[in-house]
Amino acid sequence: MSVLVVVECAEGEVKKSSLEVATYGAQVAAMLGTTATAIAVGEATEANLAKLGEQGIAKVLYDAEPRLKDFVNNAYTKLIATAAEQEGAQVLVLANSNIGASVGSRLSVRLKASLATNVVELPKTDGGQFVVKRGAFSGKAFSDVVLSGERKIIAVKKNSLEARHEAGKTAEVVAFAAQLADADFADAPKQVVMQEQTGGVLLPEAELVVSGGRGMKGPENWHLIEELAQALHAGTACSKPVSDVDWRPHHEHVGQTGITISPNLYIACGISGAIQHLAGVNSSKVIVVINKDPEAPFFKAADYGIVGDVFDVLPKLTAAVKELN
Ligand code: FAD
Repeated sequence: MSVLVVVECAEGEVKKSSLEVATYGAQVAAMLGTTATAIAVGEATEANLAKLGEQGIAKVLYDAEPRLKDFVNNAYTKLIATAAEQEGAQVLVLANSNIGASVGSRLSVRLKASLATNVVELPKTDGGQFVVKRGAFSGKAFSDVVLSGERKIIAVKKNSLEARHEAGKTAEVVAFAAQLADADFADAPKQVVMQEQTGGVLLPEAELVVSGGRGMKGPENWHLIEELAQALHAGTACSKPVSDVDWRPHHEHVGQTGITISPNLYIACGISGAIQHLAGVNSSKVIVVINKDPEAPFFKAADYGIVGDVFDVLPKLTAAVKELN
């Protein structure tokens, strides 16, 4: 049984979520007594791919076809499926990201594989069964799922495990040609337009996020959010009512009807913590809540809470961060 890990790259770097996925895949391979191979998608450098050895990856396949730089659903699916066939992979591990969700279901059909998304732990293989734990109902519940059949696909939720870093270990990087045809790029985007972001930090990729809610009182006060974000090199986000009334652009709205993020640090300023908001942020590693109401529901989900007025706390916090920089 071999393990194939899908590693997402952008601007030459391996994404952080893919370092976690690589660690997960290498640990599954060790459990199964085999080695983990990675297939890289997106724009990568050979040096950064070789560093995947630090996460326990033995070999990395990379197709340098320039049209694979940006996400193309059909082409990525064919690329990964071809690699899985070539390597005889019986377990595929990918990130529970937009790309992972898109190609995971297609790969499941194409490779006749069972698929579990939103997986939060390493599998259990007791009694000949392959059981994974996945989050359900916006992380409020968990279910154990038995993956059946000869091939299995696991989409790992961000921040579910720490990426391993074994300094000095390198992976072998091997050129790979999936023989993609023009037809495989029929669904390629004509143009990729980057959204404008505070301080140039793209929200879905941000490791640190400062977010504001109705407690910020109005758009004229958003400089307080932006100043803290800039001091931390963080992205900015907001609650739904804030974007509904155009205080902030819609692409910053996080939650059930907005985007889901999993940063290392989420600082919620003047946000009550409604379940629909939490659905988009509750897999953040550390949550800090600033709210003047000690009974605000968000405090129950917080790792650290500051009961106070955002107009008093935010300038002090920003000054303290600037002092540390
Ligand atoms: P409020 O609920 O008004 O809370 C403001 C908070 O600020 C309060 O806790 C208050 O104590 C605090 N505050 C006020 N002044 C200060 C001050 N000076 N200093 C410190 N704290 C202060 N919401 C989302 O965010 N994302 C979603 O995706 C989403 N999807 C939804 C989907 C559906 C189907 C529904 C029905 C609702 C959805 N909502 C969503 C809305 C959600 O239910 C809440 O209404 C919303 O999250 C509340 O936003 P808020 O916390 O900014 O505002």
